[in-house]
Order: sequence, then structure tokens, then C-alpha cells
Amino acid sequence: MAPAPVSASQSVLLPTYARAPVAFERGEGPWAITADGTRYLDFGAGIAVNSLGHAHPHLVEALTAQAGKIWHTSNLYTMPEGERLARRLCEATFAQRAFFTNSGAEANECAIKMARKYHAAKGHPERYRIITFEGAFHGRTLATIAAGGQQKYIDGFGPKVDGFDQVPFDDEAALKAAIGPETAAMMVEPIQGEGGLRSAPSRFLRLLRDLCDEHGLMLIFDEIQTGVGRTGKFFAYELSGVTPDIMSVAKGIGGGFPMGVCLATEEAASGMTLGTHGTTFGGNPLAMAVGNAVLDVILAPGFIDHVAQTSLRLKQSLAELKDKHPEVIAEIRGEGLMLGLKLHTLNTDFVAEARAAGLLVVAAGDNVVRLLPPLIIGEPEVADAVSRLDRAAGAIEAALKRPAAE
Ligand SMILES: *Cc1c(COP(=O)(O)O)cnc(C)c1O
Repeated sequence: MAPAPVSASQSVLLPTYARAPVAFERGEGPWAITADGTRYLDFGAGIAVNSLGHAHPHLVEALTAQAGKIWHTSNLYTMPEGERLARRLCEATFAQRAFFTNSGAEANECAIKMARKYHAAKGHPERYRIITFEGAFHGRTLATIAAGGQQKYIDGFGPKVDGFDQVPFDDEAALKAAIGPETAAMMVEPIQGEGGLRSAPSRFLRLLRDLCDEHGLMLIFDEIQTGVGRTGKFFAYELSGVTPDIMSVAKGIGGGFPMGVCLATEEAASGMTLGTHGTTFGGNPLAMAVGNAVLDVILAPGFIDHVAQTSLRLKQSLAELKDKHPEVIAEIRGEGLMLGLKLHTLNTDFVAEARAAGLLVVAAGDNVVRLLPPLIIGEPEVADAVSRLDRAAGAIEAALKRPAAE
């Protein structure tokens, strides 16, 4: 049978996303702009990816300069810009080793493999199980959906990858009970992103560190969303002072160029010897040029302090907004420029109303709306965003007060 003709108006992309009916043609800093010139204040930043906003001149310069030299060489050859980026990341964090990937899920795959291999190389291949936490999100590969533990992402894709034991968030007794002779590691987001901006309390992270030390486990932090300045620190682990052994990073590190990295201590990485892991694209020269350019800006003196200051302003304004709209906004959550509004009303409706008011925000689990603006914003953008959020909340309230149509 001949295949059915494809209608020109129907998308041939897999319908796995409920895409908003808006397409952006270009961007300028915190603004995303459609072909007809409509401007949206972008407080989603491509889900915490466009850390320096759109078309940042330093990133454009770095990418186009590299594009004119060489795009790709593979990991068969030395890549000086990758060596440099890895060294800069290690110097600015707890880590001594780095592996570049193309995405967050791949950075987590590296972290999971590394934790398992650490024990195997020490003569304990039976220690492969990883404790994860309810509400987690670690990606969409077969292993990372098992790690995240969300049934809706697991169902229908065959046997769940073995080796992940999920416990409730912030439940000491359940956590201790889950540790056994096969446990290799614990894996946690310091602040759950997709799960609804739930912060792991510092004392809980310290408990994880203590239990990992006591039982010889690897502590893995998934900082794919929280990393690279997002929380007002270079990495969120600095907020608690609890240092992981392994950390996955992606999203903001590429400023919009797809890349990730798995960082680790020398000890944690000790099993990852010649030939044990690989990637064709990971760490390619285009990504490395952009990653270095992102760090030029984010690690410049004062930049991250500015993020923390902007966050205070935004949090203060959001608290006022909550007081003004108590029927809509229940709670303000998060750290730095990774903030969430927990709502009484449906979060997806709020996202649509905000977009109608010219503001892009992102829904998350637990009925939360996420604000993830580019880290370059200042007071004018905070004021502008809050007035648009005010309009969105007002529209939701007006709809609540209208008598339901028969
Ligand atoms: C986005 C995200 C991932 C997955 O990253 P991808 O690049 O989509 O594979 C994993 N963990 C966390 C915490 C994330 O926010």
C-alpha cells in the first residue's frame, strides 16, 4: 500500500509536545520576537537554557568565529578549547574531572555509569543501585526515566531499567531503610525543577552527604537546571555547602547551544578508564567555544552577585503579587532566578494568560509556574515581568468571578 499523502498543514513531528501556537524568529537579550514583530519577555529562557538571553554578542562572536575555523573533529583528537573549559569548570567547583555531553540526560547517564563503575573497579560490581527521590526529573533516556521514577514517563517502554530505588523527598527513615549492600549512590536535584521548584533543605543534603560517607556511596547532584549561576551561586551546592562526588550540568552551560558536562572528583572518576565511555559529538569545538564564552560572562567579577540581587527584587515583588492575588497564587518557591509560583488555579491556564500578556513562563509539576529568566535581566525587566504577571493573575481572577456558562 502506498503511504498516505502528508497534508501540508499538518505537522509531521511526533505529537509528544502540546506546542503553543507561537513561533519565534529572533531574540534580543530577554526578548523573544515573532516574525510579525510581536515581542515577548522571555522568563522561560528555553527552560533555563538561554542563560545570557538571546543573541548575546559575546556568544554570537564566539560561535561564528569558531564556525569559520573548524566545527567538528571527534574525541579521537585533542581539543584545546575543551581542555580549557574542563579546567575552568574544575577550578571553579569541587571537581577534578570532566566529561562533555550533548544534553542533560547524557550527563546523567555518565554520572550513573561512573558511580556504578567506581564500585565495580574496586571489586564490588554488585553495588550498582542508586537511590533517587520522589518528584525527581533526570531526563528521558531509558535509564534516566527509571531514575526519575515518574510512571507516566516509564509506562509502555518495556521493562524499567533496573537499579533505581526511589524514596520520598526529605524522609530520613525511608532513606536509611533504602540503603543496602547493593547501593552505589544517591542522586538528587538540590532544587527540583520539573518537579515543581522544591528545594532540598540544607540539613537534608547534609544527611545525604553523611550517609554517603558512612556507607561509601557516591553522592550525585543533578545540577542540570540549577547550575551555572541560576540560583545566585555558580552551582546550587554552594548554597548548602554540601559537596557532591559527581555532578551533572547542562542547560545554562551552553547558553542555547546543546551541551552538557559530567563533573567529578578524581576519586569518583577513578573507574572511568580508557575506553569505558564515549560520545561522537560531546565536547565538539562549536560547543566548547560557546561554553567558554558563557563562562567568560558568568564568572566575570560581580555577575553572579548581580543575579542574587536581582533575585531579591523579584522575590519581593512576587510576594507582593501573592498578597494581591491570594485566590490565584498560593506560594513563592525557589532560589536565585529559578523561582516558582505555586498556584491555587491551574498552572497551564496561567502560562497561557501570561503569554497573552506578553510574558513567557514555564509550567512545572505540583501545579507550579516557573520563572527562569535569562541571568542578564535587571530591575526594568523585573518590574515589567511583574506587571505582566499581575495582568495574567487578574485575568484568571476575572474568569473565576464570572458565573460559569451553562
Ligand atoms: C532538563 C533536565 C534534565 C534533562 O536534560 P535534557 O537536556 O533534556 O536531556 C535532567 N535533569 C534535570 C534536573 C533537568 O532539569
